[in-house]
This record gives sequence, structure tokens and C-alpha cells, in this order.
Amino acid sequence: MAEQLGLEGMPKRLYSAAPTRLLTFLDCPRRYRFTYLDRPPPPKGPPWAHNSLGSAVHNALAEWWRLPLERRTVEAAGDLVESGWLTQGFRNDKQALQQRDRAREMVERYVVDLDPADEPVGIERVVGLTTPRASLWGRVDRIDDRPEGLVIVDYKTGRHALTVDDARASLPMAVYAAATARTLRRPCLRVELHHLPTGEVLAWDHTEESLARQLRRADSLAAEVARSDQAFRQGLSDQQADEVFPARPGPICGWCDFNRVCGPGSAVRSPLDPWAGVPADE
Ligand code: SF4
Repeated sequence: MAEQLGLEGMPKRLYSAAPTRLLTFLDCPRRYRFTYLDRPPPPKGPPWAHNSLGSAVHNALAEWWRLPLERRTVEAAGDLVESGWLTQGFRNDKQALQQRDRAREMVERYVVDLDPADEPVGIERVVGLTTPRASLWGRVDRIDDRPEGLVIVDYKTGRHALTVDDARASLPMAVYAAATARTLRRPCLRVELHHLPTGEVLAWDHTEESLARQLRRADSLAAEVARSDQAFRQGLSDQQADEVFPARPGPICGWCDFNRVCGPGSAVRSPLDPWAGVPADE
């Protein structure tokens, strides 16, 4: 409580953010500035096909659980992919159709192993918590009720293989687990990445201590981002803005929406094709 009090005994305002906002700052402060602070924001590149595919799959799985129990069939899951399909970012109609069929197949394969009667505690549920300096929140794909406690499930649709380390080190998932435990007042230590393209489940069991460590990390990062936001609001020259929000060029630049307006980023990586994140035509 003492940490939340200002000089005159007034509560300090907590920095409100989703963990993804903090991670954007960590990855590249300039990208963070482009995304969250510059208004109007600089022009973005075209939409990504992998985002279209990911949204359609996430929406289908969420809608499937909202169907009445008797309609939660494998075929219904596939139908939801088709009815909610998004075509932005694909190379052409042929690729969009191929990927729609692939997405349908991966969702149906995934749903075969689900028990439709095993009602999750939450679907796309927003959970939140406060740390000494931040108010953190996020939307969880699914919260399962298992004998070992509540479990955070995050669907993944990208091409690259995942490892248990991705689940263990994920700041957002740790925040969601801690926030779920606080919101629902029940233990929540397990986090799982469900990789739809391979059917793999990458699980990690946190401890109270490992969650506390991640919350301290999020709190410290939020404090740093809050200071940078405040400096931006007070007005920065171009040079000062580049110092507070430095570009951090690297492999992510090819995937960055702002590559075309970022000198340092475009110097190291050309923007990738919008369909680079999905398999080539079959
Ligand atoms: S192109 Fe690279 S350096 Fe530039 S904003 Fe994007 S991620 Fe940062």
C-alpha cells in the first residue's frame, strides 16, 4: 500500500496495460511509440495473412464453446472456420481457399480430442490484477477447470515450432495465470500453449514464486514504460524521441508493420510478403 502512496498521501495512478504492450516496448521502443503514442500513427504496411488465419481460428474455437452442448460437433467447428474466414493478406484467392481448408482441418483435428461437455471456466475472458505500479489485464483464450486447478490455454496458429520454454518464459501467460487466480479466487499455476498446426501442447507448471517473479518483471517494465509515456506527453524533440524510443533493428523488422517508415529497420530487413507467415501454395 505504501508503494502506492504519493508524496502527499494521494494514491499514485497505476499504469494500465496489457502485457503485450509492455513486450512491444521491450522488443523495440520505436515500434512501441509508432503503435501506441504517435497520433495519427504512421501508415502501416498491408494486413498479414497469418493474422487473418489466426483470427478466424480463434473466433471459431471461441464460438464453438458458445454453441449449445448438442451442437458442439467436429463439423460445426469446421463450419465456424469457414463462415468466419478472413481473406486479407493472402497472395491470391487460391491461397486463401487452400489456407481456409487447412485451417478447417486443423481446427477439426483439435476439436476431436475435446470433450464438449467439459465446460471451460472462461472463453476469451478478461482478467486483471494490480501490482505496486501497474494495473495489468488481458483476454485469455480459454480457462479450463482441471483437477490440478485452473489452467490458462493459449491457442497458437503460427508456423514455427514451439517449446516448453515458450510457455515457461511467457510474461503474458504468467500474468494471466496470476490474474485468473485473483479474479476467480482459485489456484491457477499451469499455463499451456496449444499449437494447432502440430496438435502439440506445451505446458508449464508455475509456482507461486515463479509467478511472483514474472509479476515483479512486469511491474518494473510497466514503470519504465510509464516514464517514457510521460516524457512523450510532455513533448520531445525528434532527437529526444529517438533517444527515449530507440529503434532496435533485428530479425523482427521484416514482420514489423512500420518497416516502410523506419529507416534503421528497413536498412536491416525488407518487409516480408504479407503471406510469408503461412505455408506456400500447395
Ligand atoms: S522496423 Fe524494426 S526497428 Fe523499426 S520500428 Fe519496426 S521493429 Fe523497430
